[in-house]
Amino acid sequence: MHTKNISELAAGLRAGEYSSVELTRHFLERIRRLDGGLNSFISVCEDAALAMARAADERLQRGGAGPLTGIPIAHKDIFCTQGLKTSCGSRMLDNFIAPYDATVVERLKRAGAVTLGKTNMDEFAMGSSNETSFYGPVRNPWDGDAVPGGSSGGSAAAVAARLTPAATGTDTGGSIRQPAALCGVTGLKPTYGRVSRYGMIAFASSLDQGGPMTASAADAALVLQAMAGFDERDSTSAEQPVPDYGAELEHDLAGLRIGLPREYFGEGLDAAVAESVEEAVGEYRRLGAEVVDISLPNTHLAVPAYYVVAPAECSSNLARFDGVRYGHRCEDPKNLEDLYKRSRAGGFGDEVKRRILIGTYALSAGYYDAYYLKAQRIRHLISDDFKHAFDRVDVIMGPTTPGTAFRIGERTDDPVSMYLSDIYTIAANLAGLPGISIPVAPVDGKPVGLQIIGNYFAEARLLNVAHKYQQVTDWHTKAPEGYL
Ligand code: GLN
Repeated sequence: MHTKNISELAAGLRAGEYSSVELTRHFLERIRRLDGGLNSFISVCEDAALAMARAADERLQRGGAGPLTGIPIAHKDIFCTQGLKTSCGSRMLDNFIAPYDATVVERLKRAGAVTLGKTNMDEFAMGSSNETSFYGPVRNPWDGDAVPGGSSGGSAAAVAARLTPAATGTDTGGSIRQPAALCGVTGLKPTYGRVSRYGMIAFASSLDQGGPMTASAADAALVLQAMAGFDERDSTSAEQPVPDYGAELEHDLAGLRIGLPREYFGEGLDAAVAESVEEAVGEYRRLGAEVVDISLPNTHLAVPAYYVVAPAECSSNLARFDGVRYGHRCEDPKNLEDLYKRSRAGGFGDEVKRRILIGTYALSAGYYDAYYLKAQRIRHLISDDFKHAFDRVDVIMGPTTPGTAFRIGERTDDPVSMYLSDIYTIAANLAGLPGISIPVAPVDGKPVGLQIIGNYFAEARLLNVAHKYQQVTDWHTKAPEGYL
């Protein structure tokens, strides 16, 4: 059952080949047997999952079932799930049981999807390797010594190992696309505002966006369909109609104009990864697409600007974790100040503290103009680069990451080299554009991701472009040895 795509699973449920309870048990059993070595889940909710599966089976009998009814899914532990622990990968929230569902969770529940559990992640989504999690690192199912990427590393590893047909992720600077690339799965970061952020624990509010992580683009279309749409509880949610993503998958690619930004193929890109990406672009040429060389001249400013904007916003967002209302509280505080200090010192890990310090500094009087305002100006330049590019091309393609999955521990002492893992993904967040990563030919047995960036609200186009490639190739159907 775990090798089937979501449509096949849904067809099996309808044909009565198995029930949702059986399907759910199958994945729960895989998690129990295989996740010990991966650590992709922080919590597994067997009883709640089986209750949801029973309800889905009734709905399948009764009628009114949709394409996700009875299909298991896992949520990144950044999404609030009512009655279930929602840790955000942090000691700070290790004891937090969310009192409500995030909109994304609520919508997927309404669609009938069955929550298997919550996936591991970098603490407060800050990281590119899953090593900053309070719950320990996640291992890449393709190579147990390598990281799965981050921050949605648990979701990526769980989908890659076929422990769940789908998972949710969030992407502030690459956290859906980068782990999708390193684990060989499909990951879509929608346009900023396409998917509600309500109940998604905030890291950098002007950049954060939730999206699906699945084996294929066709599966991602089904999951995004349920996630997307206006939400009055999120003031930045877009009041734009949601297209029928499934209906748009099959468009022919003849005449599609693909832009290859020269800045995405320069120094720092692994030669074998470049080759694999170029081979995929060749496949698109065979599908009738036209390839155009373009330039995104401000690309080199994306990482520095992001590391001002993201820490600035996080320093403000994380101020609420003070040991008073919820979360970790130190023992025997002497007074209020002592309570704040020791609760925050004990609740947060090093990377989160580093970001809070940088952000507080960048926002302080006297430095605000020099850092935050300047970074915001760079965001405009970056958005303009894309705007000019989209006058000439329909989509932009390049590698998702400069290399394949690196070794656990390799970059933990060098934050800058860690930050550079997102060199090709961050610009889309700064501009608010959608991007998808799909697996292409691996290098030395390790997955490689092709990133496709589209114009605002062009998710349907991205899924279509990804799907057409997946129809003529089979990289997305490969699972790592031992997880078949
Ligand atoms: N790796 C980037 C960071 O550490 C992006 C994280 C994300 O997208 N959540 O901030």
